[in-house]
Formats: sequence, structure tokens, C-alpha cells
Amino acid sequence: MISFENVSKRYDDGTFAVKNFNLHIKEGELLVLIGPSGSGKTTTLKMINRLIPLTEGYIKIKDKKISDYDIHELRWDIGYVLQQIALFPHMTIEENIAVVPEMKGWGQKEINQRIDELLHMVGLEPETYRKRLPHELSGGQQQRIGVARALAANPQIILMDEPFSALDPLSREKLQDDLIELQKNIKKTIVFVTHDMSEALKLGERICLMKNGEVVQTGTPEELLQQPANDFVREFVGIDQAQAKTVDIREGVKPANPGEMDHLTVISSSVPINEILGLLSEQELLAVEVKGELIGTIDRQGMIRILSRQMEGIK
Ligand code: ADP
Ligand code: MG
Repeated sequence: MISFENVSKRYDDGTFAVKNFNLHIKEGELLVLIGPSGSGKTTTLKMINRLIPLTEGYIKIKDKKISDYDIHELRWDIGYVLQQIALFPHMTIEENIAVVPEMKGWGQKEINQRIDELLHMVGLEPETYRKRLPHELSGGQQQRIGVARALAANPQIILMDEPFSALDPLSREKLQDDLIELQKNIKKTIVFVTHDMSEALKLGERICLMKNGEVVQTGTPEELLQQPANDFVREFVGIDQAQAKTVDIREGVKPANPGEMDHLTVISSSVPINEILGLLSEQELLAVEVKGELIGTIDRQGMIRILSRQMEGIK
């Protein structure tokens, strides 16, 4: 869907914000770009919708160079969600959401239906919120509107630059959960920037870790956890500190009939992280026991989620 081919961005002062960057983002995947502050994440994101021009290489969307697209069509077909208060402060919620559909020339009736649909989708009652101004919403609700607005004209691609990082931990977790649910239905190609590893592990189908404008490693959460390319990855993922810690995995367990668990490897509900990591690579599904009794199964995604939560505690 989106390919970076030897892409570099050099600013006039000589800084390479992004250097020889190669990445292929698949259609319908949620890819997380992660790295320390200044590693080039925002620059990479903004090159996709041509908010920042690239210096070398190509970016292609659906095999067509972005420079060959009409700039307006390109921007309208890419939703963009920023960290904070990117909503227009003097416009109501419905007006904020309607911006791109209006530019695209949709009819009023169609726009109205879409606003209702989107507000439901992001969990806000249209009757209550349509006519409000952004400052009459909480931070978390404003970010939900930001997501709704980005989705408004049904773009194929959504770019999200640290969209939840200004929120309190509870709201952040709720929005992350809702994004996972939403993505199951909408299956957009999403590029999600964060500097928070627990968020990356939780959301990313694949994660691309950057440092000094370059890709250090791209892979699934399990690959980064289990086969870190170098010490920087190990440290950034934070797995070293976590290895020996024991976690309770019961909240990730799904009930199952004894017959379904016959052939599965059994683990205790209280288990060291390094043991989970070992098992992750070998098994899709494990049976979980408490005091000698099987209580259900846990899958790879369930374990990744628990690991993600643990990372939060460590960092
Ligand atoms: P991140 O989003 O990962 O924090 P950025 O993409 O914002 O990183 O920045 C990458 C690098 O590019 C940083 O070193 C930053 O200082 C530099 N940079 C960003 N914008 C400019 C600019 N307009 N001129 C010069 N250097 C810049
Ligand atoms: Mg940034």
C-alpha cells in the first residue's frame, strides 16, 4: 500500500531527519513507527501526505509515486490525527467532522448521515455532541472527534502522530482498546507514531523501530521481543529489565472445554516473562492451569497484551 524506497530527508542546515529509509506498509495493516524523540517519526509520517517534501528516494502509494498524485486528492484520501487540539476551536463538533466531506462536495444529507455514523463509531452520542464546541469536551473525547474527522471521507490511509500521548493513562488505555476494536471493522492502512513501547506492543501488527532517522528493526511484536536486532532494540523494548519478573496471566485467559485443551502445552497462571517469551515463538495457543486445574486457554495476542501492560510498569 505504502512503500518507502531509499527515502531521505535532509534539512537546509544539513540535518538528516530521515536517512535511507525503506519500508513496505501493507494494505489494511496497523504499523507502529516508534523511536526516541528526534528519531524522525514525524518527518516520516508527514512525507507520506507531502506535508514535508523528501530529498531523495521515492514514496509510493499503490505503486504510484506520491509526487504524481494531485495534492488535494492525496491529502483528502489520507486521514491525519495529531497529538492535541487539532480541532478547529470555533467550529462545532459536526462542523469539524464535515470539513473534508464538504471539500469533496458531498451532499448535506450524506454528510449528516456520515456524522451520525462516525460519532457512534467512536462512542459519542450524536444527539449530545453534534452541536458542542471542542472545549466542551474532555481531552479523550476531543481525540475521539479527531479520529472521527480523520475517517470522515472514508480515506484508505490514516496517519496518527502520538494521538493519545497527551491523555491521562485511563483515557489512553480506553482509546487504545477502542482503536483496536474499530480497526477490526474498518481495516484501514494505519501508520501510528508513538514513543511508548507498551503502546506499540499493544497496537502494532508490525512495529518499525527508528533511531537517528534510520530503521533499526521492523517486525511483529514477538520478533522485536524475541529476536532483537541489537542492544538498542533490547534496551528500547525494555525486555532485559522484565525478563525475570513473574506475571499473572489470568486476565488474558479465555474459557475452553477440557477436550479443546488436550493437546496443548500447559503453563501456570503465574509465570516469568522469559518463559512466556520462549513459548510465544513455539505455540499459538496454551492451556493455563491454576492449582492443578485447567481454567482455559491464552493465545499469542493475549500474552502480548499482558506483556505490554508489564512494560508500562517498568518504564
Ligand atoms: P520525532 O518525531 O521522532 O521526534 P522529527 O521527525 O520531528 O522526530 O525530527 C527528526 C529530526 O529532524 C530531529 O533531529 C529534528 O531536530 C530535525 N528537524 C525537524 N524539523 C526540522 C527543521 N525544520 N529544520 C531542521 N531540522 C529539523
Ligand atoms: Mg514527533
